[in-house]
Amino acid sequence: MILTVVLGIGATLAEGIGISLFIPFLQGISGNAFAGGQNNRIVVFLVNLFGNDLTDRLGIIATCIFLALVVKALLNYFSDLSYSLLEARIGHEIRVELHERLLDADFGLLERTRDERLFNTLVTESWKTIKAVTLVVYLMIAVATMIIFSALLLMISWRLTILVAVCMIAISLFVRLLRKRVELLGRVATWSNLRLTGRMIEALSGMETIRSYGMESFANDRFTSASKRVSDSFLRLSLLSGLVGPIYEVLTAGLLVVLLVVSFHNEANIPAILVFIFILHRLQPRIKSIDGTWLAMESMKAPVNEVLWLLDQSPDGTDAGGQRSFTGLSDAIEFRNVSFAYDRTAAPALADVNVRIPRGTTTALVGPSGSGKSTFVKLILRLYEPQAGSILADGHNLNEYDIVQWKAKIAVVNQDPYLFNASAFDNITFGLPGADAGTVEAAARKADAHDFIRGLPRGYRTNVGDDGGLLSGGQKQRISMARALIRQPDILILDEATNALDSISEDAIQRALEALPGQCTRIVIAHRLSTIESADQILVLDKGRVVEAGSFRTLLEMRGLFADLHRRQRQGEHAFD
Ligand code: ADP
Repeated sequence: MILTVVLGIGATLAEGIGISLFIPFLQGISGNAFAGGQNNRIVVFLVNLFGNDLTDRLGIIATCIFLALVVKALLNYFSDLSYSLLEARIGHEIRVELHERLLDADFGLLERTRDERLFNTLVTESWKTIKAVTLVVYLMIAVATMIIFSALLLMISWRLTILVAVCMIAISLFVRLLRKRVELLGRVATWSNLRLTGRMIEALSGMETIRSYGMESFANDRFTSASKRVSDSFLRLSLLSGLVGPIYEVLTAGLLVVLLVVSFHNEANIPAILVFIFILHRLQPRIKSIDGTWLAMESMKAPVNEVLWLLDQSPDGTDAGGQRSFTGLSDAIEFRNVSFAYDRTAAPALADVNVRIPRGTTTALVGPSGSGKSTFVKLILRLYEPQAGSILADGHNLNEYDIVQWKAKIAVVNQDPYLFNASAFDNITFGLPGADAGTVEAAARKADAHDFIRGLPRGYRTNVGDDGGLLSGGQKQRISMARALIRQPDILILDEATNALDSISEDAIQRALEALPGQCTRIVIAHRLSTIESADQILVLDKGRVVEAGSFRTLLEMRGLFADLHRRQRQGEHAFD
């Protein structure tokens, strides 16, 4: 930033010197025709600078003017160059920082924040913020230029300078009246852009639903009106900011005419006055650009605030502390009086949970939708911290462990797993970066994914599309199972799919689970009772509380909620979800 500003100021200085040299030059050409103003110190200084011989003087001055302008052009070029470098670098840094915040900011906050707000901040507002930062540099150069040129004007004629300054300030104040309005329009534009981004996300992620319900024209109407609003508000914004330029030009042109008339009447030193007006002419667009830049920065307040909002999100507490190394579970995971609520005012998602999950066992979580099963898993994954009680692994609180080592020993298969827009191979090695083809294939075989992957057009190298869009639900699930198995996890968390799996791959996954090494601890969110008959313990959750716990048999004999769910499911009702 400093380099850019210094180069910019250097260019202005060179230009100022070049323009000032026109005074002795014009004086020389005109001989003594312009006698007035010879008591002006700067004029006398410049005229005497180049000696008395007229021909020599003109040649030297012309060369100096030329050199000054060459230096100005060079410095301008390097200033522009470093300006572009600055813009590129700041852009890169802001984008990377924003992305880092997505990875380390409080998970709950990101879950609560609307997708379109995050998306908009990352995609659109970050660009505007980059622009705003570079505008600050631009503004500094413009202000420095203004100061240097004003100093020259003062030296040539302080009276005229004061007259001009007063008029300029009046013009500027007038233009500033527009500023409030522009700021308001800027906010409206940002807001409508947010709506439009929302509609775009909706069109992409809800495409199937929209089309299957034949709601294309409904969706199109909504999108069209959001898009129209964006165009309108940006149009109004640019119409208003575009007014600034012409208003300035007309007013300052009037000012120049007044100046010329006043000085000719007063028989001042004509070369000096001509240079004065020329400098003023060069200064005017800069003052205009200062006001324009200022206005542009006003309209960027809202975008910059959005970016700052995300940048300011402190990392969630889960990264703090945690020095203890974790090489694997040797005894058990234990929940002690754990309570957690997403929102302090809402009912707790988990309340006073006490559970012991011994190493190498299978624990199934069952319960109606919203009973807290996913929350239980999120706490183990340390996406959230319990608000009361503690979760221990081998007797130590989870937050004592190094979080990277802790997560490295866990693998998760979600109900609706996310696949990256990459090859099947890359999606599997996401679980174990750098794994070789043999390991990938072995994991895929265990997850019953090998055969169908081989059948894809390019085998393991086939791109699976956005979120695995080119695969069926069951195939996605099997790839994600392979991704989990390749990790050789110590703790496997499986959110069993309700419908995605066909019965063949359900069996295969059951076999894969059974084939896991004996020391692997399994936690399964179960939606079908047939899959958990052999679980070591089943936890029945209801409204965040563990209401029943025990083996399949014991729970049936209790004739409580579990037995009830079991009976309803056998009768074909949707018991759990
Ligand atoms: P389950 O997995 O058993 O369906 P969850 O653990 O997802 O249940 O949800 C438990 C409770 O917490 C529900 O009442 C749900 O509405 C609420 N909940 C889940 N996720 C969030 C979230 N990100 N923000 C606020 N509330 C949530």
